[in-house]
This record gives sequence, C-alpha cells and structure tokens, in this order.
Amino acid sequence: MRLSRILAIFVCILVISPAGFAQKKKAAAPAAPAEGTLTPAAIQKALDEAYEKFKDVKEGKNADYIKELARVDPNIYGIAIVTTDGTIYTKGDLQSAVSIQSISKVFTMARVIEEQGPRVIMDKIGVDATGMRFNSIVAVELQKGKEINPLVNPGAIASTSLVNGSDSAAKWKSILQTHSDFAGRQLGLDGPVYISEAGDNLRNQAIAHLLLAYGRMYFDPVQATDIYTKQCAISVNAKDLAVMAATLANGGVNPVTKKKIVSPETVKYTLPVMATAGLYDDSGQWLYATGVPAKSGVGGGIIAVVPGKFGIAVISPPLSPAGNSVKAIYTIRAIIEALGVNPYQITPKQ
Ligand code: GLN
Repeated sequence: MRLSRILAIFVCILVISPAGFAQKKKAAAPAAPAEGTLTPAAIQKALDEAYEKFKDVKEGKNADYIKELARVDPNIYGIAIVTTDGTIYTKGDLQSAVSIQSISKVFTMARVIEEQGPRVIMDKIGVDATGMRFNSIVAVELQKGKEINPLVNPGAIASTSLVNGSDSAAKWKSILQTHSDFAGRQLGLDGPVYISEAGDNLRNQAIAHLLLAYGRMYFDPVQATDIYTKQCAISVNAKDLAVMAATLANGGVNPVTKKKIVSPETVKYTLPVMATAGLYDDSGQWLYATGVPAKSGVGGGIIAVVPGKFGIAVISPPLSPAGNSVKAIYTIRAIIEALGVNPYQITPKQ
C-alpha cells in the first residue's frame, strides 16, 4: 500500500517535471506517520472506533457473589489511555466509579516487591499461574500453599499480609497510599461494597486460614483478609485505572504527577506476573490475543500495560464466566490491534 503510493508519487513527479530526479529528492521529505503509529489522532481514533463497535454489546453478567456488585449499573462503559508522556485520552463514561477489586492485587504486590525485593514473592507466595478460578481452594491444597501467585485470592491475601506495618491500620494506610500514588490522587473506599463483602467473606477467610496451616500466611489471617477486602473496595474510575497502568508502563514514575512511586526494578517483576496470571484461568487466551500484561477485577475494570508506551483501562461491569469484563476484553484487544502495539508483532528486517 505504502510502496504503491510512493511509486505513484514518483511517477507523477517524473511526468510533470522535466527535472524529475532533482525534484524527487525534495518529495522524499518526512512522510506522514503510517497508520497504526502512536500519534494523538491515531490513539483517539482507536478509542472512538472501539467504543462505537462495542457500546451495544450485552454479553456477560455483573458479579453477584458480592451482593453490592449486582446493583452496579451494567451500562457503565468508560475507556481511558494515558501515555508515558502524561497525555490522557478518554471515551465514554469517565464519571462513574467502581470498586477496583482484584486489580488492587497488582499494586499491593508492587508495594511488597518495592519494600522487600522480588525474591520474597518467589519464596513466600509463588509466581506460577494456577490455571484455576481466582478463589480456588483446590489450587492452594494441590501444592500445599506453594506455587500460586499474588494475583489470585490466596496469593493476594498473602501479599497483603506481607506489606510492612506493625498493625492492621498501618498496613491498610500503606496500601491505600500506594494506590493513591499510582492513581495520582487521593482514592477512597466504596463503603457499601466493603461492608457487603466483609459480611459474607467466609471463603476468603478459609483460604487465609488454609495458607496459615501451610505456613504461608504472614500476618493474622482474619485481619489480613479484612485489609485485602478493603483494598478490593477502593473506588476508581477509568481514568484512575489508566493512570495507575501508565505508571507501570512508565517504569514506576507516575507520568501525570511525575512522582516516582516504585522503582523500574519493581515494575520489571510486577508485569510478568500480570502477563502470566492477570486474567486468572483465561490468562493464556488473553496473552495469545494481545501480548501485553493485564489485570481484571470483578468490579468490571481491566487494565493493560504497553511497556514504555501507555496504560489503558476499561470499565464495564458485566463479566465472563472466568470473572473478566467482557466488553473490556473486546475493547482493549481491538485497541491494541488497531495501534499495532502487541510486542510480539515484529516487523522483520529486510
Ligand atoms: N474481592 C474479590 C474477592 O476476593 C476480588 C475478586 C476479583 O476481582 N476477582 O473475591
């Protein structure tokens, strides 16, 4: 396509100009960026087109095992991209907030890596995909609490239990501050979601106690589960999530506030866990389609990180059977494809 256009221009110059060759040099001045490169117009176009294409999709169903989540408006649909130079692109509903849920697992894991180094995650939790549901008890039992990861509930509660802080209040303060720093503004709790899940949380409590039985829980299990439940109830909109993702894409420096939140080393160990386990038992399908690390939450959000380029987030509450937002998956997949940013999509050198 491009080659034929260049040829056509060349032929034109030869035909209309007697000094064709001399003129041709001028015509070879910087070409307009090819479609698919990351120009502001290309990014906004990708967002607009994906929004139009998927806005009427009605597949999936809100999570209802946390009662309050069943009451969230299923029509919320917001998309945001934040590039590593801090530019924000949006489409759709940026006002509505949902609870962050499992997306929080990424930022708590990053906090632990930042405080105690990458080894602690390997040794005390694991970095292998379980291939099972996010709240699987069998996954813990199979390996006696080993070889799980911080992005499924057992590993996430263990990760929460590892955050520095002498008591529950100190750990929670640190976790909320970390999330706020990543988002670039003070975040708060969705009280009704927290109360709803905390009042009906026996499964996560059971998981925490099972880990304790295997010596893989590092704080009081009841309190660790409670802090974990609070972190899942942090309230975010699509822009917040995109800034958080962009901070990872930018090696740990928030591209909007310019504040260093975690080190590039921490990011280097955080993203691979997202790539292998970010969408639970559907993580393989996700990576196969997009090539980029991502994380979902049952509140309806998904973030994805294109390292060095941008963070993207979509919120749409109805979920697939694995617990991932259906519309967010469609949307992010389409945008990654339109912008040609799958890192495994390689243009061969000729
Ligand atoms: N708070 C939810 C839970 O523990 C988070 C799960 C999720 O988003 N997948 O079940």
